[in-house]
Amino acid sequence: MTVESTTVHVGLAERSYDIQIGSDNLSSIGSLVAGLDDVSHAILITDSNVRELYGETTKKSLANADLQVDIITVPAGEASKSTAVTEELWKQLLSLGADRKTVIVALGGGVVGDLAGFVAASYGRGIRFVQIPTTLLATVDSSVGGKVGINLPGAKNMVGAFWQPQAVQIDVNVLQSLPARDYHAGLAEVVKYGVIQDEDFFNRLENNVGLILDRDPEFMRDVIARCCELKAHVVENDERETTGLRAILNYGHTFCHAIEACTGYGTYMHGEAVSIGMLCASRLAESLGRITENDTARQRELLLQLNLPIDLPQDIEREPLVDAMKRDKKTEHGKIRFILPTRIGHVELVDGVDDALALAAFN
Ligand code: NAD
Repeated sequence: MTVESTTVHVGLAERSYDIQIGSDNLSSIGSLVAGLDDVSHAILITDSNVRELYGETTKKSLANADLQVDIITVPAGEASKSTAVTEELWKQLLSLGADRKTVIVALGGGVVGDLAGFVAASYGRGIRFVQIPTTLLATVDSSVGGKVGINLPGAKNMVGAFWQPQAVQIDVNVLQSLPARDYHAGLAEVVKYGVIQDEDFFNRLENNVGLILDRDPEFMRDVIARCCELKAHVVENDERETTGLRAILNYGHTFCHAIEACTGYGTYMHGEAVSIGMLCASRLAESLGRITENDTARQRELLLQLNLPIDLPQDIEREPLVDAMKRDKKTEHGKIRFILPTRIGHVELVDGVDDALALAAFN
């Protein structure tokens, strides 16, 4: 299905760029890249799954725009966000003659975006890059905001940079090939935007569960565009996470990171842990008298309908989860900070919460 394209502008002074959201637009990526100033060379970085599906179309489009094109494929999966793969990419860029006229094109999910973006940020003290996010999570979250990076053993996203792309281009039709679990996991971040910033958007999600589950291209174009607008607004006002505003994007994430750490990374997908984490945060807000039971129930119902997990199994020990929250890198002087909702559409930063209440919120 073909849908009309829409554009979200990310206003960051000289680092501003546009996010284009449409359909069947992989074949026009060549003209977008060639339209940037003084470009002669594109290096497409993708992963093994995405290359099979969309590598050739993208490569052909770049070549048709008279660019020298090289393609580098990394193994699919989080393990590629490593120092070893990064070093390999730096060396390949060097041997391919990458320079100021080269643009990196990151084609893939959040892993490829974070990795290729970090390579772009660091190689030659920074070269330009363009993102083509292909997972729902990458379209609504990781491709907006300029955070790029890789993992160290035991420390996720520990080495990275703020490096904004020149442009982001999204083809909603690529969502059709996404495995169901990845698609649903991405929906948790979509719901998050409604809870933290936009009640009308949350209402629209509640009223259109069928279209969402069907991956309706037109509806999903609008959903992605709204999420990008909401995240862009936050990033425009707190690009480098200095004013505290950007922290609202971490709604549910303090609980989520603890769940991921204590269940072993890989048991839950990130979005699944975010889903459980948001409900923990909302229950905590309830116990502090900050939100109504009904507003938690609405989140729970929507997440459930979107095929996301909503409870942490009883056999998972609770005490280690609170310890893990205290070790989270967002903790300040051992005090856990939470982003808690006061209603659908608004959250606040809350300090000094009793451990016992945080513990109780897991149930
Ligand atoms: P991913 O990139 O590993 O993609 C998930 C899987 O889907 C992979 O196997 C991939 O090959 C496959 N895939 C991608 N697009 C596809 C398509 N259209 N059809 C079929 N298969 C496809 O994972 P992800 O969930 O996209 O991203 C997770 C990463 O994003 C994490 O490393 C996380 O740290 C990062 N992240 C970064 C930010 C940020 O602000 N930079 C924000 C959130 C998450």
